[in-house]
Amino acid sequence: MRRTYKFRAYPTGPQEVRAVRLLRDHCDLYNAALQERRDAWRHVSKTTVRYGDQSAQLKEIRRVDPTGQGRHSFTAQQQTLRRVDTVMGSFFARVKTGKAGYPRFKPHNRFDQVVFVDRDGAKWSPAEPGARWAFARFQAVGTVKVRQHRPVRGTVKTLQLKREHRRWYVIVVVDVEPEPLPAAGHTVGVDVGVARFLTTSDGQVVDNPRFLAAAAGDIAELQRRKARSRRGSGNTRRLRQALAKRWRKVRHQRHDFHHKTARALVDAYDVLAVETLNVAGMTRAPQPRPDGTGGYLPNGAAAKAGLNKSILDAGWTRFANTLVAKAEEAGRRVVFVNPAYTSIDCHRCGTRCTRPRQDTVICPRCGPIDADLNGAHNVHTRAGLGSGHTAPAA
Ligand SMILES: [Zn+2]
Repeated sequence: MRRTYKFRAYPTGPQEVRAVRLLRDHCDLYNAALQERRDAWRHVSKTTVRYGDQSAQLKEIRRVDPTGQGRHSFTAQQQTLRRVDTVMGSFFARVKTGKAGYPRFKPHNRFDQVVFVDRDGAKWSPAEPGARWAFARFQAVGTVKVRQHRPVRGTVKTLQLKREHRRWYVIVVVDVEPEPLPAAGHTVGVDVGVARFLTTSDGQVVDNPRFLAAAAGDIAELQRRKARSRRGSGNTRRLRQALAKRWRKVRHQRHDFHHKTARALVDAYDVLAVETLNVAGMTRAPQPRPDGTGGYLPNGAAAKAGLNKSILDAGWTRFANTLVAKAEEAGRRVVFVNPAYTSIDCHRCGTRCTRPRQDTVICPRCGPIDADLNGAHNVHTRAGLGSGHTAPAA
């Protein structure tokens, strides 16, 4: 089972210069390999060049360019050639459907990661227990300091050196053996929402964390100021950086929140039923006024509500992925169910309810029910876990 850790790296000045050169050389290799395949496709009557052919040529390229391509890790270069292979594979798949744009060459500033095989041109040295710094050695770059904020479990397979804007990261991919948790003896249905983060069929509610609203407020304010600033000015640049920084912070907070929330669910339940998310449906905007007057929220509020939602929406797929990864590692199961009508049919008797308010459904036989809790029960049942619809209350 694969697992990925992403850590911030702090190369020294000279290391950064060499890392930029590493990316540039790999970018050249990528583009050259793409060029060759493109020529073969265009001129040699739609023949294809295979990864194996290019990998063999690499030896020759390294021999004639010992101070350039020849300095780099052979296996890392093979990984870059594999990327060309992947890109070409999806190109040919698109050709079959008739809408194929040929894969593009990458400019140097857009090629931002190189994959190394551990102990072959790169080496991971984890932080000592209680220490915060780990080290990653990359051929042609050096031994880079890495801030390791959590322990790495499993066998290290690959190390990626990655640039994101002006920051550097090391991505550690490991192979881990699942460590099954003892059976919890419970299953659960989870309803995901916009008003609340999630509601479980056990009645547990996880609210949207406060940092979302704070971030939405800050980001809306920064965007307003940026819109008012003169284009191309130093002020615009500073505001753009401040915005990027604020987004980064909220992404980190959200990541942390997802991990903790998923951890708690996986610890408590053997099987977790979740709706298959309709992300397209969740991003509808703007929100009508909650008072039902048919109007929309005033501008500022609408912008902030929209932001709140977009911060949240971007997180849903990630949360589901986090949940699945943690479940898999712990020997738990996540079941995805069709979300159609999960919130509107009564979970007790199956009768179609009315929904006068976002947070409540009214069953003609059972009366008002919390809409999210009702949804969570239905998700549970639909996954084949609940007891199913019971007789209506007398
Ligand atoms: Zn009912």
